[in-house]
Amino acid sequence: MSKKVEVSINNKWIVSNRGQKNHVDPQKPYSWIVEKERTRSGKIEDTAIIFLSNLECPFRCLMCDLWKNTTNESVSIGDIPKQIEWALKQMPEVKHLKLYNSGNFFDKKAIPEEDYSRIASLLNDFETIIVESHPKFINEKCLQFKEMLKPELEVAIGLETVHMEVLQKLNKQMTLNDFSKAVRFLAKNGIRSRAFILLKPPFLSESEGIFWANRSIDFAFEVGVECCTVIPVRAGNGAMDILMKNDDFSLPMLSSLEKVLEYGIGLSSGRVFADVWDLELFSDCDKCFDARQNGLMAMNLSQQNVDHIVCKCTS
Ligand code: SF4
Ligand SMILES: [Zn+2]
Repeated sequence: MSKKVEVSINNKWIVSNRGQKNHVDPQKPYSWIVEKERTRSGKIEDTAIIFLSNLECPFRCLMCDLWKNTTNESVSIGDIPKQIEWALKQMPEVKHLKLYNSGNFFDKKAIPEEDYSRIASLLNDFETIIVESHPKFINEKCLQFKEMLKPELEVAIGLETVHMEVLQKLNKQMTLNDFSKAVRFLAKNGIRSRAFILLKPPFLSESEGIFWANRSIDFAFEVGVECCTVIPVRAGNGAMDILMKNDDFSLPMLSSLEKVLEYGIGLSSGRVFADVWDLELFSDCDKCFDARQNGLMAMNLSQQNVDHIVCKCTS
């Protein structure tokens, strides 16, 4: 692990290095997409994601760039249901929906509690609803929302890494105990959870990045998550770019993502996905990129390992 941290990583430093936010409309989600995902039952089905526009998350994680598409003030009561209605009109019918809000669904400053019942009634026709939350917002409020909801509720939580020192430097304001307590609380109340796991957060070498992503997958399944998504860490939020210049961070390699996904799938403990957004960022060979991307996508959907692509282009 790199020892040369000269900056003092805290909210102030992280925020002071940010660029401008994008303009978002409080009555429209800032994006939506439909992608294929392997469901728990093994079927490959369309899953929609609505990216809600709302107040920025109160945490200031070192690697986070989700603040870019958030508001500075809470949206009004009624705005979030309007956003969902708007997106549902645009998108094809699907069975599964992720309602991602660049933060914490159960933060009432982001999603007003007064909107829960209207939101729930808009979601009646889905089979699964997946929302995201920091463990500190996982409490009785989740159960109130679950009670109103006809589809099954699942909560995605950022575990990030089980490397304690790095987790602390990520400024996540979360301990591993917070994470496991949240997962157990949800499980006790019939709510499944999935973990977001970082591949190669700052201060780790390539091999350490792989090692700690694998240990993080182990931990997530041990405490009871049903599914893990491995996210290769990128720059672009200001703070990460400075760490990159200081050699405290470098982008993970595509081959590392392949190795971690292969490890996770090999455990057969639950579904493990690789985040394949912006994957070309992690590629060092244009000729092999398509084959590698297709391989990772095939692994995501089949939950079977495929033969590694070995790049011989430059040898
Ligand atoms: S808790 Fe999530 S949304 Fe909030 S700053 Fe951290 S990574 Fe970003
Ligand atoms: Zn190549």
